[in-house]
Amino acid sequence: MISKASCAMATLPCSRVRSGLCILPGMRQLSLSKGLVYGFTRLLSMPFKTLRGASRTLKVAQFCSVSNMSSSLQIELVPCLKDNYAYILHDEDTGTVGVVDPSEATPVIDALRRKNWNLTYILNTHHHHDHTGGNQELKARYGAKVIGSGVDRDRIPGIDIALNDGDKWMFAAHEVQVMDTPGHTRGHISFHFPGSGAIFTGDTLFSLSCGKLFEGTPVQMHSSLKKIMSLPDDTNIYCGHEYTLSNSKFALSVEPNNEALQSYAAHIAHLRSKSLPTIPTKLKVEKACNPFLRTSSIEIRQTLNIPATANDSEALGFIRQAKDNF
Ligand SMILES: [Zn+2]
Repeated sequence: MISKASCAMATLPCSRVRSGLCILPGMRQLSLSKGLVYGFTRLLSMPFKTLRGASRTLKVAQFCSVSNMSSSLQIELVPCLKDNYAYILHDEDTGTVGVVDPSEATPVIDALRRKNWNLTYILNTHHHHDHTGGNQELKARYGAKVIGSGVDRDRIPGIDIALNDGDKWMFAAHEVQVMDTPGHTRGHISFHFPGSGAIFTGDTLFSLSCGKLFEGTPVQMHSSLKKIMSLPDDTNIYCGHEYTLSNSKFALSVEPNNEALQSYAAHIAHLRSKSLPTIPTKLKVEKACNPFLRTSSIEIRQTLNIPATANDSEALGFIRQAKDNF
């Protein structure tokens, strides 16, 4: 499926160029298409390699690309703050560039400068400062349009385009389906790119966890997660934080006999031991391992003494409470 892979700097070879995935120090870049499918088993066995430190520490321009004949959307992970991720989106055909949840401007500016890219859009999943902190500076510098939830139009700094549940918005030629995913905040949205098999879930769905319920209820969060779970299993999940290792400890504590979880936890421990990102994760992996998507698990319910009569939303509430106190 992959037609071409190249590294512009021969002295800095891609640590991995296979199956559409390429990793360089401080940067991870993917080209995605419907045709790119990674199996669960294969994902767990992937020998991810070197990515060390945040992108801002890079001193030289480094570029590695993996192209697919049928896709032109590139997604780059930009580490921000302590454990946030912003994502730069680049449409190869038109040069349109977006950034999802820029918690701060500097690492995003650095990443854009390395590519000599302008910034067209800023996409916010929710209003929290560690997802919008870079909005105003980036907007002033590039004239980018800020996109966020209509529900939270009063709390998204610099918002220009308010979108609501079910809206379809176009990022260049890529359709973006806007999904209301409240629970963490009341105005939380997720951006689904069906043509690329990618969704940006902010602080709703993390790898092996979900966001804290600051402004919502277990019923709302369960409904939001169910919407995400209805997407294809090979959907790539791009979330707002690198919390996976810590989340794995809680997940293992409530479902210690889940073999898929054991394997995944070992895999992500290996990644983090090398300072590699665990994101994106796959929906299929999360369904098999994430306790908040596994509210019907008998083992989880027994471990946490969740009544058999509790429905899935109520079970999620118990699991969330247990994680808050973990
Ligand atoms: Zn948040």
